[in-house]
Amino acid sequence: MLKVVKFGGSSLASAGQFAKVGEIIRSDESRRYVIPSAPGKRNDKDRKVTDMLYDCYALAEAEQEEECRLKLKKIKERYDSIINGLNLKISLDAEFGTIAENFAKKAGADYAASRGEYLNGIIMAAYLGSEFIDAAEVVFFDKNGEFDAEKTNKVLSKRLKKCERAVIPGFYGSKEDGSVCTFSRGGSDITGSIVAKAVGADIYENWTDVSGFLVADPRIIENPEVIKVITYRELRELSYMGATVLHEDAVFPVRKAGIPINIRNTNAPEEAGTLIVESTCHHSKYTITGIAGKKGFVAVNIDKDMMNSEVGFCRKVLTAFEQNGISFEHMPSGIDTMTVFVHQEEFEGKEQQVLSAIHRLADPDTIDLESDLALIAVVGRGMRATRGTAGRIFSALSHVNVNVKMIDQGSSELNIIIGVANNDFETAIRAIYDIFVTTQL
Ligand code: ASP
Repeated sequence: MLKVVKFGGSSLASAGQFAKVGEIIRSDESRRYVIPSAPGKRNDKDRKVTDMLYDCYALAEAEQEEECRLKLKKIKERYDSIINGLNLKISLDAEFGTIAENFAKKAGADYAASRGEYLNGIIMAAYLGSEFIDAAEVVFFDKNGEFDAEKTNKVLSKRLKKCERAVIPGFYGSKEDGSVCTFSRGGSDITGSIVAKAVGADIYENWTDVSGFLVADPRIIENPEVIKVITYRELRELSYMGATVLHEDAVFPVRKAGIPINIRNTNAPEEAGTLIVESTCHHSKYTITGIAGKKGFVAVNIDKDMMNSEVGFCRKVLTAFEQNGISFEHMPSGIDTMTVFVHQEEFEGKEQQVLSAIHRLADPDTIDLESDLALIAVVGRGMRATRGTAGRIFSALSHVNVNVKMIDQGSSELNIIIGVANNDFETAIRAIYDIFVTTQL
């Protein structure tokens, strides 16, 4: 058995948290490759070290040297308190000297942010007595900042074959010119996945501060249930619609390699968490696996008599969006109508250009806009084999007086997407949760 384990920022925010992590790793011999994040928040008022580093670098760029020095000192104090709390005999003085020099030389915001993981990796390696591998030597990006999966996999697997146990900091790598480049925020999850693939792990454990994926957002539903097993496809649907926990791109490397991901809680290691798998015959407890949603969409409703028989109408409309660099979310259609759902934020600034482009390219009869809409995804592999899922969703919504603006069921029968007014968003999610989970039908 070979496990790759990634620990999130809150799992490594203090010496106390590091000690829990140490215990988790030592309790299982097969946890051989460790990917740490930067120290996260110790409490609600705290700041993540990554954010402090971005702030600090902005000061360096603005040539506010004294402020920058003070901020860097504060960051160093965070690391020193971890080192001292763990009774380690290492010092980061020289590292911070180099960082200050590189900040002065304007080494870039990515370099600055990456130091959070880099330094935590040095501490973690010293604490565990394993080898430290700088991610810049094994994770690669091309000159445009796109992750280079092929090169990374080749170098990383070769490098890790030579070492029994290692700590590889998450979140960053390097470009061909040697400069540091990061993934988007939360990207240590991606590094963990890349390492799991490179070593052919049996499982990728992603340790965080929650006991797994929840059936619904805990800010809307009090104490929602944990999802025990979820497929990659279900997860993709839910995370796309706003369920966070794992970085969206973390799925791709392991999914291709057939490696399951286990989301675990550092503060409750006895809990099994959520297992994310390619496919399973494990039935979920309820018909649905999860509910997620996002607010802030606009529906662009386009009408044209005889639209249905006009070849290429749809393409012309979508060209108008494409030309303005707007991607669409959903596109339900009728005989003489079609609706394009887009993100309000993205659309607002370009709305008149898009509308005139639709007129020019597709010559519709009318176009009207409906804003402030939310989309809710009800996801579950169990829906395929169950009758009446849609019926139950809609009767639950009608009971709480929520008007359904749009329905879209993917042909995979894995999800049903429902459009409602932003104002109805929370009520709708509660009603759906109640009908499928609370009443346990
Ligand atoms: N430290 C980085 C962030 O805060 C990356 C991560 O934690 O995954 O986004």
